[in-house]
Amino acid sequence: MPENPFFAPSGLPYELPPFADIREEHYLPAFERGMAEQLAEVDAIASSSEPPTFDNTIAALERSGRILDRTATVFFSVSASNTTDGLMEIEKEISPKLTRHSDAIRLNRALWARIKQVTTADAEESWLLEKYREDFIRAGADLSEPEQDRLRALNEELSKLSTEFAQSLLKAGTESALVVTDPKDLDGLDEAKVESLRKDDGTYVLPLLNFTAQPALAQLTDREVRRRLYELSVGRAPGNFAIAAKMAALRAERAALLGFPSHAAYVVADQTAKTVEAVEEMLGQLVGPAVRNARKEAEALAEQAGFDIEPWDWPYYSEKVRQARYEFDGAAMRPYFELNRVFRDGVFFAATKLYGITFAERPDLGGYHPDVTVFEVSDEDGSPLGLFVLDPYARPTKRGGAWMNNLVDQSFLFGLRPVVMNNLNVTKPASGPTLLTYDEVNTAFHEFGHALHGLFSQVRYPRVSGTSVPRDFVEYPSQVNEMWVTWPEVLANYARHHETGEPMPAELVAKLTAAETFNQGFKTVEYLAATLLDWAWHKLAPGETVADPEAFEAAALKAAGSDFPLVRPRYRTNYFAHIFSGGYSAGYYSYIWSEVLDAESVEWFKENGGLTRANGDHFRRELLSRGGSIDPLAAFRNFRGREPGIEPLLKRRGLL
Ligand SMILES: [Zn+2]
Repeated sequence: MPENPFFAPSGLPYELPPFADIREEHYLPAFERGMAEQLAEVDAIASSSEPPTFDNTIAALERSGRILDRTATVFFSVSASNTTDGLMEIEKEISPKLTRHSDAIRLNRALWARIKQVTTADAEESWLLEKYREDFIRAGADLSEPEQDRLRALNEELSKLSTEFAQSLLKAGTESALVVTDPKDLDGLDEAKVESLRKDDGTYVLPLLNFTAQPALAQLTDREVRRRLYELSVGRAPGNFAIAAKMAALRAERAALLGFPSHAAYVVADQTAKTVEAVEEMLGQLVGPAVRNARKEAEALAEQAGFDIEPWDWPYYSEKVRQARYEFDGAAMRPYFELNRVFRDGVFFAATKLYGITFAERPDLGGYHPDVTVFEVSDEDGSPLGLFVLDPYARPTKRGGAWMNNLVDQSFLFGLRPVVMNNLNVTKPASGPTLLTYDEVNTAFHEFGHALHGLFSQVRYPRVSGTSVPRDFVEYPSQVNEMWVTWPEVLANYARHHETGEPMPAELVAKLTAAETFNQGFKTVEYLAATLLDWAWHKLAPGETVADPEAFEAAALKAAGSDFPLVRPRYRTNYFAHIFSGGYSAGYYSYIWSEVLDAESVEWFKENGGLTRANGDHFRRELLSRGGSIDPLAAFRNFRGREPGIEPLLKRRGLL
């Protein structure tokens, strides 16, 4: 019997996981052995007779759990990108066990007593020590036994409700779908699309996507059909209102148990925002100008329509205005966005110009699927930096969206270089080249910004490696990398016709950039309104309950100055999966919070000559290489030379 590949380091270059040797039956035994091994290691740390030191406590915890770390990293990466029924079963079985495992460590009283006694004079160590203390306290380490029991019960109840919320939402996607019998009702959608919606009983079923403004609203010509679709969208899964209200109340109770006045206060305490007031100050500066902007856009749409529009008319007339004003034609651009070219001559090209790094494909190294490509990344002087793994294509076994994850965390502690991965969801053509949309090109640069954050990490401890930074900071480097998409030198290098090699015609380029601030009022308001809702639910005081969630929603938006009926929140309470079944409760503000830093940084690059090695080196040294090993805002100040201000963001979004 060959040994379980998770039991020992892989031995492949850069410790790339040995995907070819990993089989489904390896995971559960490796999880079990990994958890048992780590618990034994933690027990030894907690019961040591030596006086507690940084090395025998914190560093020892960092050294623990290697098998579990290798197993979980590969498992969650593969189950997101290429899952199977078997992997889904394993996930159901292992998730509660992993929660209990982490509780067993963080609620270990002897261990916590030792952590509290550790002192260190070293700056990186003392930052890490602070992170450990924060993690333990936030997990309930300082509570009494009965309080910890109550905490476990609350966590369990919340996780049950969140599963219920997600499942009823999933069902609503089809149960609340738009059903028509006459295909003429779907006029505006292209023929192939209409055909794909046809069911055996002769009806046509358009399922709901998970946000308020359905993409089909931009095309459907029948106003009454648009209204029906919109109302199905905002009214779906009505049972979720009650679940959300219950969850918000339980979260408030949990926050109180942990010593916070609200769930929002609990969540932001370990983020860069730190306080509820800081988040509200930023939102307060954005809401007014964004709503004013959206009102102006609404006037232009009404003029185009010839009547006062309703919310379900917005996407349709906005598309008409965009075409009239900018002649923006996405289909004409796609032949200039060929996948390989976008990466090699665009994404990689910009990184070489900025950081001097180079990329070499390693066909000898494989992933978990034939479509996965591995690149070796080298520094300018040829020294090895890490591996970049790319999985660009959509498949039925991959979850939606695009993301970056680490397969190996950089750390000096283990002498490991980073192995980072990007997943996209590009449709693979039956044959011929893969042509991207402009949005997909943007996403490729965005995700690679996360990859650089992982690749450039130069830290001692895995807990703070690469992208292990607060959620309201993590989107910042990736958003900055999007600035190179339309940077003339970069665009001219990658946007070439896939057949002729001709560069994109200047008038197409001009349309591309001219349309960038179009409809920003709408986009900002629908985003901010969702943020305000998230905030209102999670600012509830302990004991406060909401009897009428829909009235609560309306009142919250009105109080925050965002009661503009033509633009509803991107997600209403009943389908706000980010905050009621994902990890973003009281955290939806993060995207715009990161964008403040992003806009500041883009301005810095522009002020200093743009795409240069000197600029890249400065950003890499002061920010990207630090990972989570120092205060993130201090890293920002070291890079930018000042505190972040909101003006660059307002300017970019056309809100000044
Ligand atoms: Zn991102």
